[in-house]
Amino acid sequence: MTSLSQRIEDVRRRIDSACVRAGRRPEDVELMLVSKTVERERIDEAIAAGHTLFGENRVQEIVAKFSDGVPPQVRVHLIGHLQTNKVKAVLPLVDAVHSVDRTSLVEEIEKRSGDASIDAYLQVNTSGESSKFGVSPGETRRLAERMAASSSLRLRGLMTIALFDADEERVRSCFRLLRELRDDLVERGIADSLGLSMGMSSDFEAAIEEGATVVRVGTTVFGRRDTPDSAYWPPNP
Ligand SMILES: *Cc1c(COP(=O)(O)O)cnc(C)c1O
Repeated sequence: MTSLSQRIEDVRRRIDSACVRAGRRPEDVELMLVSKTVERERIDEAIAAGHTLFGENRVQEIVAKFSDGVPPQVRVHLIGHLQTNKVKAVLPLVDAVHSVDRTSLVEEIEKRSGDASIDAYLQVNTSGESSKFGVSPGETRRLAERMAASSSLRLRGLMTIALFDADEERVRSCFRLLRELRDDLVERGIADSLGLSMGMSSDFEAAIEEGATVVRVGTTVFGRRDTPDSAYWPPNP
């Protein structure tokens, strides 16, 4: 059995190699450990190993795991679908939301954030699957403009979940689409620079080669989850 810290180091090495292959700087790609279903004890182990960025899918789970507060050096990012009625509870606990996908959610964040502002990624459905959340590519610019104009949000980039497919070209086409949408927003001056939150255990190296700035890795570091992914991406959201 390899230790948690060895597995984190191993993923980091694979990230760095992918950067080298793509002619990118390793410091331009951040590793997020996706800790959904992972117990707080093991999260603390990763923190003790020096890791500071964690991704969680569910508001209730974040509240339960971090009821004693998030350690000061640690950042928790919400990467799962956010219901409007959970915004108030989650804002004090997270540093960013990667799943902003509708105007009503932006409005609720504005209502609940007071003077604070939160980092936000706009989630795009690049695979066209009905089970995935996110705006369609064609709706991206409109929501991005809305987010960029909000003083409650700092638009940091775009986020996507690629197709799960053995055909790597089809997976990459999702990443490429997100990058093109990002480039278009920057070209139009909607933001000076925008990141790309894309790539998971099965596809993070391809995502980096296509421009990812944050990769979200769970299974490769923490092991298989008992909860199937369909619990997070329900059909017909
Ligand atoms: C669970 C999850 C991940 C991590 O998936 P793994 O395959 O376990 O690496 C990344 N992004 C989102 C949005 C997730 O829900």
